[in-house]
Amino acid sequence: MLFLRLICLSWLMLWSTFALSAQGIDSVRLHRGPDHTRIVFDLNAPLEHKLDKLANPDRIVLDLIDVDLNFDVARLEYSDSPITNIRVGKHDGNRTRVVFDLKDSVRPRTNLLKPVDPFGWRLVIDLYDDDPAPVKAAPKPLQESGGSRSMIVAIDAGHGGEDPGARGPSGVYEKNVVLAMSKRLYNLMKKEPGIKPVLVRDGDYYVPLAERRKIASDRYQADVFISIHADAFTDHKAHGASVFALSNRGATSARAGYLAKIANESDRVAGVYEEEKDNNGLLSVLADMTMSGSMAHSLYLGRQVLEEMGDVTKLHGDRKKVEQAAFAVLKEPSMVSILVETGFISNRTEEKNLNSSRHQEKLARAILNGVNQYFETHPAPGSWYAAQRGGGSDVASHRIAPGDTLSSIARRYSVSESALRNQNNLSSDVIKVGQVLTIPRS
Ligand SMILES: [Zn+2]
Repeated sequence: MLFLRLICLSWLMLWSTFALSAQGIDSVRLHRGPDHTRIVFDLNAPLEHKLDKLANPDRIVLDLIDVDLNFDVARLEYSDSPITNIRVGKHDGNRTRVVFDLKDSVRPRTNLLKPVDPFGWRLVIDLYDDDPAPVKAAPKPLQESGGSRSMIVAIDAGHGGEDPGARGPSGVYEKNVVLAMSKRLYNLMKKEPGIKPVLVRDGDYYVPLAERRKIASDRYQADVFISIHADAFTDHKAHGASVFALSNRGATSARAGYLAKIANESDRVAGVYEEEKDNNGLLSVLADMTMSGSMAHSLYLGRQVLEEMGDVTKLHGDRKKVEQAAFAVLKEPSMVSILVETGFISNRTEEKNLNSSRHQEKLARAILNGVNQYFETHPAPGSWYAAQRGGGSDVASHRIAPGDTLSSIARRYSVSESALRNQNNLSSDVIKVGQVLTIPRS
């Protein structure tokens, strides 16, 4: 009888321990960035935790109180991080201890994040590399062979890491397709004379919005900033690509305002620390942008990109109008900046397209063509494009490339089709690949 009662008692104790363990952690993610490793625990509720950094050998000890870790940490991919092993054990009955063995010393930081769509409570552990790889020096390419410089284009793949962006009906993540597209655009631009592309992020990690602009303008001294995204909307029929610039008079449409609001949430979704957030006053930036002309130029560039994209994909609302709203990532007066929504990932057909390499390549080429046209029609002083245009001679020439039409060439050089026909004695609009046209002064 006593024996039975003991069993009952211990069973009760077990049960109460279980009841006290208010939560179990079912999912853990790990993202490796250029200078840090981020580990994220999904929680049902806030939890008590304690983190210690120990040396000889270097390791981080994380104690989670009153919680069961149901996720197998062996599934995490940490081979490119300073972590060599992750161990989990139970201590003092209610304490789950996670030990990160390290090959290099790190600076740890924890952050308990309040719920934000699509996540609930999260515990974020950041391990900053003590000795980060040196940032690649990227001085502005000065005088090149022709005595002119290349235009630097920063390509910013939206979202990344802890911030997945939008998710398509069959599970395609925006952060992945926009990175693939950005890399394609980068590779195409690398082959272009007169353009030097740089990637703001080149892997699956998050970069805070303000940091993205800083990387582009301070580290790379970019002339142009292009942020690549894909839309999502509750109405799955919504479709088409669109291009946005910053606004100085509120959003140009309800949708533009809504999109900017969603895009500006990225930092919260990704778990950016408060002090890293952007505190630049929007108004002063807008004044600077208007003053420096980069606002007008952002609209010129956007218009050219939209025009080209219209040839390879449907445009949202079938309109060739650059929309404007207060996108935080575009607030940089020193750069001509646009945000390209390449299509609706929430639309089944467009999700499939956005995920296909053929379509990605088409879109990337369209963006490149738009950028090229913008540089050709608005050549920056001292640039390769300015040299092509002026070059000492009265006229420029253009060698016909596949896909060129008389009207696309006219548009590209801001001349009329009839002026182009007259200058080259053309009796029709028929042109041949390889043929060289003389471009009249516009
Ligand atoms: Zn996005």
